[in-house]
Amino acid sequence: MKTEKFRIRPDRKVRLKDHDPSDTLGWKNKDAAEEKLAKDVERLAELQEILYAQDRWSLLLMFQAMDAAGKDGAIKHVMSGVNPQGCQVASFKAPSAEDLDHDFLWRCQKHLPERGRIGIFNRSWYEEMLVVRVHPNILEKQQVPTELVTDKIWKQRAESITDFEKHLSRNGTKVIKFFLNVSRDEQKKRFLDRIDKPEKNWKMSPSDATERGHWDEYQDAYEDVLSWTSTERAPWYVIPADNKWFSRMAVAHIVVRTLEEMDLKFPEVGKERRNALLETKKMLEAEED
Ligand code: ATP
Ligand code: MG
Repeated sequence: MKTEKFRIRPDRKVRLKDHDPSDTLGWKNKDAAEEKLAKDVERLAELQEILYAQDRWSLLLMFQAMDAAGKDGAIKHVMSGVNPQGCQVASFKAPSAEDLDHDFLWRCQKHLPERGRIGIFNRSWYEEMLVVRVHPNILEKQQVPTELVTDKIWKQRAESITDFEKHLSRNGTKVIKFFLNVSRDEQKKRFLDRIDKPEKNWKMSPSDATERGHWDEYQDAYEDVLSWTSTERAPWYVIPADNKWFSRMAVAHIVVRTLEEMDLKFPEVGKERRNALLETKKMLEAEED
């Protein structure tokens, strides 16, 4: 599957109009896609077990998107086969007063995956270049000293983020980032569906429609995020998200490939331990039933 097409090369100006939200790389058949997803989910479970046993590396998956693009569903489906002990999900909503008393990376750092684990960020520090940029009143509430708030602040935040992600990668955390790229029309359809179906009402709030009113500003902010913060070590993938069956399959494929490239290995036990295990085996076999 040619998901490399979705990977953003470092230091390129990204234009979202060049990324088709309904692209399926030629896949037409939802059932075939679900079959492939199921296989990748199985493979992911195997790789996660090795990651956990080896206890050296960790993987951080970040998800960003406009509302109703399918972040929650993608996380749920892709991680469905993974042992919950080896995986931790953190969702970032509006920051607390305590969060605001710290630098903007602080609240997310507390949720970084331990060695051997897969960490998932449902939203992340990238909100600091998105919602905060689109709504200047949020920035005002952040208590940053006024002289530090200049028109360079978004580029500076991008630098802080890329520096920090580099630090993570140097310490054994592989970072990959997904932007689920839904179209404006598809978002409207999904909102209407959430309103029409009472069991989906909880997913929708009137403020989601207000955010939709800022669509173009968000697209511009996303373009800067993608252009400024995709690196070789911590790449962005722009995943077409108008078809949920496709976006889930694509995300699972990329996660599996990333883990495979990490060249994970079960830890080898030393000769002494191996001999001790063989002794144990003898004892077990000698037990009377
Ligand atoms: P989602 O929309 O991700 O499925 P949700 O609807 O359950 O989640 P919301 O209550 O919409 O959750 O919370 C997410 C909101 O928090 C978003 O509007 C997001 O922009 C906002 N948010 C996240 N991080 C920040 C931040 N650093 N500063 C301000 N607002 C933020
Ligand atoms: Mg929401």
